Amino acid sequence: MNEREVKILTDRLIPVPEKIEFVDGNDYIIENKCRVAVKADDIAGTGEKVKKLFYSYWGVDAEIFLEKTPWHGDDEGYEVEITPSLVEISAYGIAGVMNAMKTLRQLAEVQRGTERVKGYFLVQCRIADKPAMPFRGIHLCIFPETPLWDIEKQIRLAAAHKFNYAVVETWGIFPFESHPEFCWADKKIDKNELKRLILLGKELGITICPQLNLLGHASASRSITGKHAVLSYDPSLQPIFEPEGWSWCLTNPETRRILTDLVTELHGFYDDPPFFHIGCDEADNIGTCRECRRRVLKDLVKDHICYFHDLLAARGARTLMWHDMLLKEGDPRWDGYIVCGLPEHQLEQLYKELPRDIIIADWQYGYPKNKPEDPEPQWPTGRFFKAENFDVVMCPWIDVKGTGSLGKFAAAEKLFGMLETTWHISHGIEHAWIYCAAAYASWNPAANPGVTLSTRLSLAQHVRQIGWDMGIDEYTLAGWNQYQVDPGHHPHRIV
Ligand SMILES: [Zn+2]
Repeated sequence: MNEREVKILTDRLIPVPEKIEFVDGNDYIIENKCRVAVKADDIAGTGEKVKKLFYSYWGVDAEIFLEKTPWHGDDEGYEVEITPSLVEISAYGIAGVMNAMKTLRQLAEVQRGTERVKGYFLVQCRIADKPAMPFRGIHLCIFPETPLWDIEKQIRLAAAHKFNYAVVETWGIFPFESHPEFCWADKKIDKNELKRLILLGKELGITICPQLNLLGHASASRSITGKHAVLSYDPSLQPIFEPEGWSWCLTNPETRRILTDLVTELHGFYDDPPFFHIGCDEADNIGTCRECRRRVLKDLVKDHICYFHDLLAARGARTLMWHDMLLKEGDPRWDGYIVCGLPEHQLEQLYKELPRDIIIADWQYGYPKNKPEDPEPQWPTGRFFKAENFDVVMCPWIDVKGTGSLGKFAAAEKLFGMLETTWHISHGIEHAWIYCAAAYASWNPAANPGVTLSTRLSLAQHVRQIGWDMGIDEYTLAGWNQYQVDPGHHPHRIV
Protein backbone atom coordinates (compact mmCIF):
# COMPACT_ATOMS: atom_id res chain seq x y z
CA MET A 1 0.00 0.00 0.00
CA ASN A 2 1.58 3.28 -1.03
CA GLU A 3 1.98 6.36 1.11
CA ARG A 4 -1.00 8.14 -0.40
CA GLU A 5 -3.31 5.22 0.26
CA VAL A 6 -2.09 4.96 3.85
CA LYS A 7 -2.72 8.68 4.36
CA ILE A 8 -6.23 8.48 2.88
CA LEU A 9 -7.11 5.66 5.27
CA THR A 10 -5.39 7.18 8.30
CA ASP A 11 -7.11 10.55 7.84
CA ARG A 12 -10.44 8.77 8.31
CA LEU A 13 -9.50 7.81 11.83
CA ILE A 14 -10.23 10.34 14.57
CA PRO A 15 -8.36 9.88 16.82
CA VAL A 16 -5.47 8.15 15.04
CA PRO A 17 -4.63 4.77 16.61
CA GLU A 18 -1.28 4.42 18.36
CA LYS A 19 -0.16 1.79 15.85
CA ILE A 20 -1.80 0.81 12.59
CA GLU A 21 -0.16 -1.21 9.88
CA PHE A 22 -1.97 -1.83 6.61
CA VAL A 23 -1.42 -5.05 4.70
CA ASP A 24 -1.84 -5.58 0.98
CA GLY A 25 -4.16 -8.27 -0.28
CA ASN A 26 -7.85 -9.14 -0.37
CA ASP A 27 -10.30 -7.20 1.77
CA TYR A 28 -12.51 -8.51 4.57
CA ILE A 29 -16.10 -8.39 3.34
CA ILE A 30 -18.65 -7.28 5.91
CA GLU A 31 -21.63 -9.49 5.14
CA ASN A 32 -24.03 -11.87 6.84
CA LYS A 33 -22.10 -14.64 8.62
CA CYS A 34 -18.83 -12.69 8.42
CA ARG A 35 -16.53 -14.02 11.12
CA VAL A 36 -15.49 -11.97 14.16
CA ALA A 37 -13.36 -13.35 17.00
CA VAL A 38 -13.58 -11.49 20.31
CA LYS A 39 -10.84 -12.29 22.81
CA ALA A 40 -11.31 -10.67 26.19
CA ASP A 41 -10.30 -11.19 29.80
CA ASP A 42 -13.78 -10.16 30.91
CA ILE A 43 -16.04 -11.37 28.13
CA ALA A 44 -19.28 -10.23 29.80
CA GLY A 45 -21.45 -8.42 27.27
CA THR A 46 -18.76 -8.26 24.59
CA GLY A 47 -20.20 -10.79 22.13
CA GLU A 48 -23.69 -9.28 22.22
CA LYS A 49 -22.27 -5.79 21.83
CA VAL A 50 -20.17 -6.64 18.77
CA LYS A 51 -23.07 -8.48 17.15
CA LYS A 52 -25.37 -5.53 17.81
CA LEU A 53 -22.87 -2.99 16.45
CA PHE A 54 -22.20 -4.99 13.26
CA TYR A 55 -25.92 -4.89 12.68
CA SER A 56 -26.42 -1.20 13.50
CA TYR A 57 -23.31 0.01 11.62
CA TRP A 58 -23.53 -2.20 8.54
CA GLY A 59 -26.83 -4.11 8.70
CA VAL A 60 -25.24 -7.56 8.84
CA ASP A 61 -25.59 -10.55 11.13
CA ALA A 62 -21.99 -11.37 12.05
CA GLU A 63 -20.88 -14.69 13.45
CA ILE A 64 -19.13 -14.05 16.76
CA PHE A 65 -16.53 -16.35 18.31
CA LEU A 66 -15.91 -15.52 21.95
CA GLU A 67 -12.81 -16.59 23.80
CA LYS A 68 -11.79 -15.71 27.33
CA THR A 69 -8.14 -14.66 26.98
CA PRO A 70 -5.82 -12.91 29.46
CA TRP A 71 -5.17 -9.23 28.66
CA HIS A 72 -2.24 -7.33 30.11
CA GLY A 73 -2.73 -3.95 28.48
CA ASP A 74 -4.79 -0.83 29.18
CA ASP A 75 -8.43 -1.39 30.20
CA GLU A 76 -9.60 0.80 27.32
CA GLY A 77 -6.95 -0.34 24.84
CA TYR A 78 -7.52 -2.92 22.15
CA GLU A 79 -5.90 -4.80 19.29
CA VAL A 80 -7.44 -5.65 15.96
CA GLU A 81 -6.22 -7.94 13.22
CA ILE A 82 -8.12 -8.00 9.95
CA THR A 83 -7.55 -10.76 7.44
CA PRO A 84 -9.78 -11.67 4.47
CA SER A 85 -11.62 -14.28 6.54
CA LEU A 86 -11.63 -12.90 10.07
CA VAL A 87 -11.73 -9.77 12.21
CA GLU A 88 -10.06 -10.51 15.52
CA ILE A 89 -10.60 -8.06 18.39
CA SER A 90 -8.60 -8.39 21.63
CA ALA A 91 -9.15 -6.29 24.75
CA TYR A 92 -9.65 -6.50 28.48
CA GLY A 93 -13.42 -6.16 28.30
CA ILE A 94 -16.35 -4.21 26.94
CA ALA A 95 -14.68 -0.76 26.97
CA GLY A 96 -11.76 -1.83 24.79
CA VAL A 97 -13.97 -3.89 22.50
CA MET A 98 -16.23 -0.89 21.96
CA ASN A 99 -13.23 1.30 21.15
CA ALA A 100 -12.14 -1.26 18.57
CA MET A 101 -15.60 -1.17 17.02
CA LYS A 102 -15.52 2.65 16.87
CA THR A 103 -12.27 2.45 14.90
CA LEU A 104 -13.68 -0.19 12.56
CA ARG A 105 -16.73 1.94 11.81
CA GLN A 106 -14.47 4.78 10.71
CA LEU A 107 -12.24 2.46 8.68
CA ALA A 108 -14.97 0.53 6.83
CA GLU A 109 -15.62 1.58 3.26
CA VAL A 110 -18.67 1.02 1.12
CA GLN A 111 -18.42 -1.40 -1.83
CA ARG A 112 -18.09 0.24 -5.25
CA GLY A 113 -19.85 -0.13 -8.57
CA THR A 114 -23.51 -0.09 -7.59
CA GLU A 115 -26.13 2.64 -7.29
CA ARG A 116 -27.17 1.67 -3.78
CA VAL A 117 -25.10 0.30 -0.93
CA LYS A 118 -24.63 -3.44 -1.29
CA GLY A 119 -22.17 -3.83 1.51
CA TYR A 120 -18.97 -2.68 3.18
CA PHE A 121 -15.41 -3.97 3.45
CA LEU A 122 -12.37 -3.52 5.64
CA VAL A 123 -8.79 -3.44 4.41
CA GLN A 124 -6.35 -5.85 5.95
CA CYS A 125 -4.49 -4.31 8.87
CA ARG A 126 -3.14 -4.74 12.36
CA ILE A 127 -3.99 -2.16 15.03
CA ALA A 128 -2.62 -1.83 18.58
CA ASP A 129 -4.18 1.09 20.35
CA LYS A 130 -4.66 2.61 23.78
CA PRO A 131 -5.47 6.06 25.23
CA ALA A 132 -2.74 8.42 26.38
CA MET A 133 -4.69 9.34 29.52
CA PRO A 134 -7.52 7.85 31.58
CA PHE A 135 -9.90 10.86 31.63
CA ARG A 136 -10.90 12.22 28.21
CA GLY A 137 -13.78 14.55 28.79
CA ILE A 138 -15.94 16.95 26.82
CA HIS A 139 -17.66 19.83 28.62
CA LEU A 140 -21.10 20.60 27.16
CA CYS A 141 -23.39 23.49 27.99
CA ILE A 142 -27.16 23.38 27.76
CA PHE A 143 -28.30 27.00 27.48
CA PRO A 144 -31.95 28.02 27.21
CA GLU A 145 -31.10 28.41 23.50
CA THR A 146 -29.72 24.84 23.16
CA PRO A 147 -31.99 22.19 21.71
CA LEU A 148 -31.34 18.76 23.21
CA TRP A 149 -30.94 17.15 19.77
CA ASP A 150 -27.79 19.22 19.44
CA ILE A 151 -26.48 17.90 22.76
CA GLU A 152 -27.34 14.37 21.65
CA LYS A 153 -25.31 14.83 18.47
CA GLN A 154 -22.34 16.11 20.43
CA ILE A 155 -22.53 13.26 22.97
CA ARG A 156 -22.68 10.73 20.14
CA LEU A 157 -19.77 12.37 18.31
CA ALA A 158 -17.66 12.61 21.46
CA ALA A 159 -18.28 8.92 22.13
CA ALA A 160 -17.41 8.03 18.53
CA HIS A 161 -14.13 9.92 18.97
CA LYS A 162 -13.37 7.94 22.12
CA PHE A 163 -14.03 10.58 24.77
CA ASN A 164 -15.12 8.65 27.87
CA TYR A 165 -16.70 11.43 29.99
CA ALA A 166 -19.01 14.34 29.27
CA VAL A 167 -19.52 17.04 31.89
CA VAL A 168 -22.89 18.66 31.28
CA GLU A 169 -23.44 22.16 32.63
CA THR A 170 -27.09 23.17 32.59
CA TRP A 171 -27.60 26.94 32.45
CA GLY A 172 -30.74 27.57 34.50
CA ILE A 173 -32.78 25.07 32.51
CA PHE A 174 -32.85 22.00 34.80
CA PRO A 175 -36.24 21.84 36.53
CA PHE A 176 -35.27 20.87 40.08
CA GLU A 177 -37.97 19.05 42.01
CA SER A 178 -36.47 20.22 45.31
CA HIS A 179 -36.37 23.91 44.29
CA PRO A 180 -38.23 24.60 41.05
CA GLU A 181 -37.51 28.31 41.40
CA PHE A 182 -33.81 27.68 40.64
CA CYS A 183 -34.55 27.50 36.92
CA TRP A 184 -35.99 29.84 34.29
CA ALA A 185 -39.74 29.28 34.72
CA ASP A 186 -40.29 29.47 30.96
CA LYS A 187 -37.14 27.62 29.83
CA LYS A 188 -37.35 24.28 31.59
CA ILE A 189 -36.00 21.35 29.60
CA ASP A 190 -37.73 18.02 29.31
CA LYS A 191 -36.08 16.00 32.07
CA ASN A 192 -37.06 12.73 30.42
CA GLU A 193 -35.08 13.74 27.33
CA LEU A 194 -32.01 14.56 29.42
CA LYS A 195 -32.41 11.24 31.24
CA ARG A 196 -32.53 9.49 27.89
CA LEU A 197 -29.22 11.13 26.93
CA ILE A 198 -27.62 10.05 30.22
CA LEU A 199 -28.66 6.44 29.51
CA LEU A 200 -27.58 6.77 25.87
CA GLY A 201 -24.14 7.83 27.08
CA LYS A 202 -23.79 4.59 29.04
CA GLU A 203 -24.68 2.58 25.95
CA LEU A 204 -22.10 4.48 23.87
CA GLY A 205 -19.33 4.22 26.46
CA ILE A 206 -19.32 7.85 27.62
CA THR A 207 -20.29 8.66 31.22
CA ILE A 208 -22.32 11.84 31.63
CA CYS A 209 -21.51 13.84 34.79
CA PRO A 210 -23.25 16.96 36.10
CA GLN A 211 -21.90 20.41 36.87
CA LEU A 212 -23.37 22.97 39.24
CA ASN A 213 -21.47 26.19 39.89
CA LEU A 214 -21.08 26.48 43.65
CA LEU A 215 -19.10 29.73 43.89
CA GLY A 216 -19.48 32.27 41.07
CA HIS A 217 -21.62 32.01 37.93
CA ALA A 218 -24.55 31.62 40.35
CA SER A 219 -26.76 33.55 37.93
CA ALA A 220 -26.62 30.53 35.60
CA SER A 221 -26.33 33.04 32.77
CA ARG A 222 -23.48 34.60 30.85
CA SER A 223 -22.35 37.73 32.70
CA ILE A 224 -22.38 39.85 29.53
CA THR A 225 -26.14 39.36 29.21
CA GLY A 226 -27.18 40.63 32.66
CA LYS A 227 -29.64 37.76 32.97
CA HIS A 228 -30.20 35.78 36.19
CA ALA A 229 -32.02 32.44 36.08
CA VAL A 230 -33.39 32.97 39.61
CA LEU A 231 -33.41 36.67 40.49
CA SER A 232 -34.66 37.98 37.15
CA TYR A 233 -38.05 36.55 38.12
CA ASP A 234 -37.94 36.16 41.90
CA PRO A 235 -36.44 39.00 43.96
CA SER A 236 -37.45 37.28 47.20
CA LEU A 237 -34.45 34.97 46.88
CA GLN A 238 -31.86 37.78 46.98
CA PRO A 239 -30.38 36.76 50.38
CA ILE A 240 -29.17 33.47 48.86
CA PHE A 241 -26.82 35.41 46.57
CA GLU A 242 -24.32 38.18 47.11
CA PRO A 243 -25.87 41.59 46.35
CA GLU A 244 -24.57 41.59 42.75
CA GLY A 245 -26.22 38.20 42.17
CA TRP A 246 -23.09 36.65 40.61
CA SER A 247 -21.97 34.57 43.60
CA TRP A 248 -23.66 32.53 46.28
CA CYS A 249 -23.74 34.03 49.80
CA LEU A 250 -21.42 31.74 51.73
CA THR A 251 -22.42 32.85 55.25
CA ASN A 252 -26.14 32.29 54.77
CA PRO A 253 -27.05 28.80 56.08
CA GLU A 254 -30.05 28.78 53.75
CA THR A 255 -27.66 28.88 50.77
CA ARG A 256 -25.95 25.72 51.91
CA ARG A 257 -29.29 24.00 52.61
CA ILE A 258 -30.56 24.79 49.11
CA LEU A 259 -27.29 23.91 47.34
CA THR A 260 -27.15 20.61 49.23
CA ASP A 261 -30.58 19.79 47.82
CA LEU A 262 -29.56 20.85 44.31
CA VAL A 263 -26.27 18.92 44.31
CA THR A 264 -27.89 15.80 45.75
CA GLU A 265 -30.78 15.92 43.29
CA LEU A 266 -28.53 16.48 40.27
CA HIS A 267 -26.08 13.73 41.20
CA GLY A 268 -28.95 11.28 41.72
CA PHE A 269 -30.61 12.31 38.47
CA TYR A 270 -27.39 11.58 36.55
CA ASP A 271 -27.38 8.06 38.11
CA ASP A 272 -24.66 8.77 40.69
CA PRO A 273 -21.69 9.16 38.31
CA PRO A 274 -18.11 9.04 39.65
CA PHE A 275 -17.44 12.78 39.07
CA PHE A 276 -19.27 16.03 39.86
CA HIS A 277 -17.99 19.40 38.65
CA ILE A 278 -18.55 22.24 41.13
CA GLY A 279 -17.32 25.04 38.83
CA CYS A 280 -15.71 27.73 41.07
CA ASP A 281 -14.28 29.84 38.22
CA GLU A 282 -14.34 33.59 37.70
CA ALA A 283 -15.95 34.30 41.08
CA ASP A 284 -14.92 37.95 41.09
CA ASN A 285 -17.73 39.14 43.33
CA ILE A 286 -17.50 36.72 46.20
CA GLY A 287 -17.76 37.84 49.78
CA THR A 288 -19.39 41.20 49.13
CA CYS A 289 -22.46 41.19 51.42
CA ARG A 290 -22.33 42.69 54.91
CA GLU A 291 -21.81 39.29 56.58
CA CYS A 292 -19.33 37.83 54.11
CA ARG A 293 -17.13 40.88 53.56
CA ARG A 294 -16.29 41.02 57.28
CA ARG A 295 -15.05 37.43 57.35
CA VAL A 296 -11.80 35.85 56.18
CA LEU A 297 -12.74 34.88 52.64
CA LYS A 298 -10.27 31.99 52.44
CA ASP A 299 -11.88 30.30 55.44
CA LEU A 300 -15.38 30.78 54.03
CA VAL A 301 -14.46 29.35 50.65
CA LYS A 302 -12.50 26.48 52.17
CA ASP A 303 -15.38 25.50 54.43
CA HIS A 304 -17.80 25.74 51.49
CA ILE A 305 -15.72 23.61 49.11
CA CYS A 306 -14.82 21.04 51.76
CA TYR A 307 -18.46 20.67 52.77
CA PHE A 308 -19.53 19.86 49.21
CA HIS A 309 -16.46 17.71 48.61
CA ASP A 310 -17.47 15.60 51.64
CA LEU A 311 -21.10 15.47 50.56
CA LEU A 312 -20.08 14.18 47.13
CA ALA A 313 -17.44 11.81 48.50
CA ALA A 314 -20.12 10.23 50.71
CA ARG A 315 -22.11 9.67 47.50
CA GLY A 316 -19.10 8.05 45.82
CA ALA A 317 -18.21 10.98 43.55
CA ARG A 318 -14.96 12.87 43.13
CA THR A 319 -15.11 16.64 42.94
CA LEU A 320 -13.83 18.49 39.88
CA MET A 321 -13.25 22.24 40.14
CA TRP A 322 -11.80 24.93 37.86
CA HIS A 323 -8.34 26.08 38.88
CA ASP A 324 -8.40 29.82 38.30
CA MET A 325 -9.54 31.25 41.64
CA LEU A 326 -6.78 29.33 43.45
CA LEU A 327 -3.98 31.26 41.72
CA LYS A 328 -3.39 35.00 42.01
CA GLU A 329 -3.38 37.34 39.05
CA GLY A 330 -0.09 39.21 38.74
CA ASP A 331 2.01 36.37 40.17
CA PRO A 332 4.94 36.18 37.71
CA ARG A 333 4.87 32.38 37.83
CA TRP A 334 1.64 32.40 35.79
CA ASP A 335 2.56 35.21 33.43
CA GLY A 336 0.83 34.64 30.10
CA TYR A 337 -1.48 31.93 31.45
CA ILE A 338 -5.06 32.07 32.74
CA VAL A 339 -5.56 32.66 36.46
CA CYS A 340 -8.38 34.73 38.02
CA GLY A 341 -7.66 35.09 41.77
CA LEU A 342 -7.84 38.78 42.66
CA PRO A 343 -5.20 40.05 45.08
CA GLU A 344 -7.89 41.29 47.51
CA HIS A 345 -9.42 37.80 47.70
CA GLN A 346 -6.23 36.37 49.22
CA LEU A 347 -7.11 32.84 48.13
CA GLU A 348 -3.64 31.90 46.88
CA GLN A 349 -2.89 29.70 49.90
CA LEU A 350 -6.28 27.98 49.84
CA TYR A 351 -5.07 25.04 47.75
CA LYS A 352 -2.96 23.87 50.70
CA GLU A 353 -6.11 23.20 52.72
CA LEU A 354 -8.13 21.43 50.05
CA PRO A 355 -8.54 17.63 49.94
CA ARG A 356 -6.06 16.12 47.49
CA ASP A 357 -8.67 13.97 45.79
CA ILE A 358 -10.23 17.08 44.26
CA ILE A 359 -9.46 17.09 40.53
CA ILE A 360 -8.18 20.45 39.29
CA ALA A 361 -9.57 21.44 35.88
CA ASP A 362 -6.96 23.85 34.51
CA TRP A 363 -8.51 25.84 31.65
CA GLN A 364 -5.96 27.37 29.35
CA TYR A 365 -7.51 28.65 26.15
CA GLY A 366 -4.61 30.43 24.50
CA TYR A 367 -1.16 29.55 23.26
CA PRO A 368 1.27 31.69 25.24
CA LYS A 369 4.34 32.93 23.45
CA ASN A 370 7.55 31.66 24.92
CA LYS A 371 11.20 32.20 24.35
CA PRO A 372 12.21 31.35 20.77
CA GLU A 373 14.37 28.45 21.97
CA ASP A 374 11.40 26.96 23.83
CA PRO A 375 8.58 26.67 21.31
CA GLU A 376 6.27 24.67 23.57
CA PRO A 377 4.43 26.44 26.39
CA GLN A 378 5.36 25.19 29.85
CA TRP A 379 1.79 25.19 31.21
CA PRO A 380 3.10 26.08 34.70
CA THR A 381 -0.32 26.08 36.37
CA GLY A 382 -0.87 22.42 35.50
CA ARG A 383 2.67 21.58 36.63
CA PHE A 384 2.03 23.41 39.90
CA PHE A 385 -1.12 21.49 40.84
CA LYS A 386 0.47 18.18 39.85
CA ALA A 387 3.45 18.96 42.07
CA GLU A 388 0.97 19.68 44.87
CA ASN A 389 -0.38 16.15 44.43
CA PHE A 390 -3.66 16.97 42.78
CA ASP A 391 -4.98 15.03 39.82
CA VAL A 392 -5.13 17.55 36.98
CA VAL A 393 -7.15 17.70 33.78
CA MET A 394 -6.04 20.27 31.20
CA CYS A 395 -8.93 22.09 29.54
CA PRO A 396 -8.53 23.62 26.08
CA TRP A 397 -11.21 25.26 23.96
CA ILE A 398 -10.89 26.36 20.34
CA ASP A 399 -7.19 27.15 20.00
CA VAL A 400 -6.08 24.19 17.91
CA LYS A 401 -2.37 24.72 18.54
CA GLY A 402 -2.98 25.10 22.26
CA THR A 403 -5.13 21.96 22.32
CA GLY A 404 -2.39 19.91 20.68
CA SER A 405 0.23 21.27 23.04
CA LEU A 406 -1.92 20.62 26.12
CA GLY A 407 -2.43 17.03 24.96
CA LYS A 408 1.31 16.46 24.59
CA PHE A 409 1.87 18.08 27.98
CA ALA A 410 -0.83 16.01 29.72
CA ALA A 411 0.54 12.78 28.22
CA ALA A 412 4.19 13.57 29.00
CA GLU A 413 3.39 14.57 32.58
CA LYS A 414 1.04 11.59 33.00
CA LEU A 415 -1.77 13.88 34.12
CA PHE A 416 -5.23 12.53 34.85
CA GLY A 417 -6.49 13.77 31.51
CA MET A 418 -8.17 16.50 29.52
CA LEU A 419 -11.57 18.16 29.60
CA GLU A 420 -12.28 19.87 26.29
CA THR A 421 -14.64 22.82 26.65
CA THR A 422 -17.21 23.94 24.08
CA TRP A 423 -19.20 26.78 25.74
CA HIS A 424 -21.41 28.80 23.39
CA ILE A 425 -19.10 28.31 20.40
CA SER A 426 -19.00 24.70 19.30
CA HIS A 427 -20.37 24.96 15.76
CA GLY A 428 -19.02 26.29 12.50
CA ILE A 429 -15.32 25.70 11.94
CA GLU A 430 -14.96 25.56 15.74
CA HIS A 431 -16.79 22.24 15.68
CA ALA A 432 -13.83 20.69 13.86
CA TRP A 433 -11.37 22.51 16.07
CA ILE A 434 -13.04 20.87 19.05
CA TYR A 435 -13.99 17.41 17.83
CA CYS A 436 -10.86 16.71 15.76
CA ALA A 437 -8.16 18.55 17.70
CA ALA A 438 -9.26 17.53 21.18
CA ALA A 439 -9.85 13.92 20.18
CA TYR A 440 -6.32 13.70 18.75
CA ALA A 441 -4.88 15.47 21.78
CA SER A 442 -6.50 13.38 24.48
CA TRP A 443 -6.25 9.92 22.88
CA ASN A 444 -2.98 9.97 20.96
CA PRO A 445 -1.34 13.40 21.04
CA ALA A 446 1.81 12.05 19.36
CA ALA A 447 -0.12 11.52 16.10
CA ASN A 448 -1.99 14.71 15.38
CA PRO A 449 -2.68 15.30 11.69
CA GLY A 450 -4.26 18.64 12.53
CA VAL A 451 -7.52 20.07 11.32
CA THR A 452 -7.15 19.93 7.54
CA LEU A 453 -9.76 19.80 4.82
CA SER A 454 -9.23 16.04 4.71
CA THR A 455 -9.80 15.48 8.43
CA ARG A 456 -12.73 17.91 8.42
CA LEU A 457 -14.38 15.88 5.65
CA SER A 458 -13.84 12.73 7.73
CA LEU A 459 -15.50 14.53 10.62
CA ALA A 460 -18.45 15.33 8.35
CA GLN A 461 -18.80 11.63 7.55
CA HIS A 462 -18.79 10.78 11.26
CA VAL A 463 -21.47 13.42 11.87
CA ARG A 464 -23.54 11.89 9.04
CA GLN A 465 -23.19 8.44 10.59
CA ILE A 466 -24.57 9.90 13.81
CA GLY A 467 -27.41 11.50 11.86
CA TRP A 468 -28.25 8.07 10.40
CA ASP A 469 -28.23 6.59 13.92
CA MET A 470 -30.62 9.33 15.06
CA GLY A 471 -32.85 9.13 12.01
CA ILE A 472 -32.31 12.80 11.18
CA ASP A 473 -34.36 13.98 8.21
CA GLU A 474 -34.50 17.76 8.64
CA TYR A 475 -32.21 20.23 6.91
CA THR A 476 -31.52 22.21 10.06
CA LEU A 477 -30.43 19.12 12.00
CA ALA A 478 -27.89 17.90 9.42
CA GLY A 479 -24.17 18.63 9.65
CA TRP A 480 -22.87 20.71 12.54
CA ASN A 481 -24.47 24.00 11.64
CA GLN A 482 -28.16 24.67 11.56
CA TYR A 483 -27.86 26.98 8.55
CA GLN A 484 -25.25 27.44 5.84
CA VAL A 485 -25.68 31.18 5.42
CA ASP A 486 -25.14 33.40 8.48
CA PRO A 487 -25.16 30.28 10.63
CA GLY A 488 -24.22 31.93 13.92
CA HIS A 489 -22.47 30.13 16.71
CA HIS A 490 -25.20 27.91 18.03
CA PRO A 491 -28.32 26.14 16.91
CA HIS A 492 -31.52 27.91 17.69
CA ARG A 493 -34.34 26.19 19.46
CA ILE A 494 -36.95 25.10 16.94
CA VAL A 495 -40.45 26.01 18.06
ZN1 LIG B 1 -22.72 36.89 51.78
